Amino acid sequence: MASAAPAADLADVATTDLMSELLHRMKCASKPDKRVILVGPPGCGKGTQSPILKDEYCLCHLATGDMLRAAVTAKTPLGLKAKEAMDKGELVSDDLVVGIINEAVKKPSCQKGFILDGFPRTVVQAEKLDAMLANQGTKVDKVLNFEIADSILEERITGRWIHPASGRSYHNKFAPPKVPGLDDITGEPLIQRKDDNADVLKSRLEAFHKQTKPVVDHYKERGVVVGLHAEKSPQEVSAEIKNALS
Ligand code: AMP
Repeated sequence: MASAAPAADLADVATTDLMSELLHRMKCASKPDKRVILVGPPGCGKGTQSPILKDEYCLCHLATGDMLRAAVTAKTPLGLKAKEAMDKGELVSDDLVVGIINEAVKKPSCQKGFILDGFPRTVVQAEKLDAMLANQGTKVDKVLNFEIADSILEERITGRWIHPASGRSYHNKFAPPKVPGLDDITGEPLIQRKDDNADVLKSRLEAFHKQTKPVVDHYKERGVVVGLHAEKSPQEVSAEIKNALS
C-alpha cells in the first residue's frame, strides 16, 4: 500500500484540482476492473487511444517504451542497460521489462486495472505476465490487436510528435498541434523520438512481426483477442474499442 502524500504537498494543490481528482475517483469507484493489452506495430494508434481508454475506464497506462525512454534520459542503471538495444530498434531483455511491469502494477493508479502498451512483446513476457496475474487471482481480460498494413506506418511515424509527460501524440499532417511544436493542453514543447525514422522503423517492424505476433496467438488460444481496423480514423477505432470492452 502506498503511503499518503504529506499534508504539506496537498495544501499546495489548487482546490479545483483536488475537487476534480475527487470527482474522478468517485466516478471510477463504480467501474469494473479491467486488464487490457494493446498490441500493434509502431504508429498503429496505440498512443492515441491509450489516454482515451485510461480516462473512460479509470485504468493506469503502462507503456514500457515510455518508461524505458524516461530511464535512458535519467541515465539510471536500467536506462544504461536498455539504451543500446533501443537505439537499434531491437528489443531489450525480457527480465528487464518484466521487472518494470512487476513494480508498476503496484501503483495506486492501477487499482482498477491497467492498459499495457508495448508489453508483452514476446511469449516469454506474456507467460510471465499471466503467472504474475494468476498469483493475484486475476487474468488478462482483453487483448486489442491493432491490425494495419506496414505500408501505412512510415508516414505516420516520421511525422509524429510526442508530449513526453502525458504521452499525447500529434502528427504534422494528420493531427497537428494548435501551435507548431507545443502541446495543446500544457503548452510544453513536443519532441520527435530518436527511433521514429524510416531506417529504425524497419528493424522495429521486423522485431514486431517476428516476436510479437506469437503473443497474439498465445492470447487467441485463451479467447481474449479482438482485432481492430487500425487504418481507420481515431474516432472509428475508439468506437471499435468501446464495443470490444462493453
Ligand atoms: P515503443 O515505444 O513501444 O515503440 O518501444 C521503444 C523501444 O523500447 C523498443 O524498440 C524496444 O527497444 C524497447 N521496448 C519497449 N517495450 C519493450 C518490451 N516489452 N520488450 C522489449 N523491449 C521493449
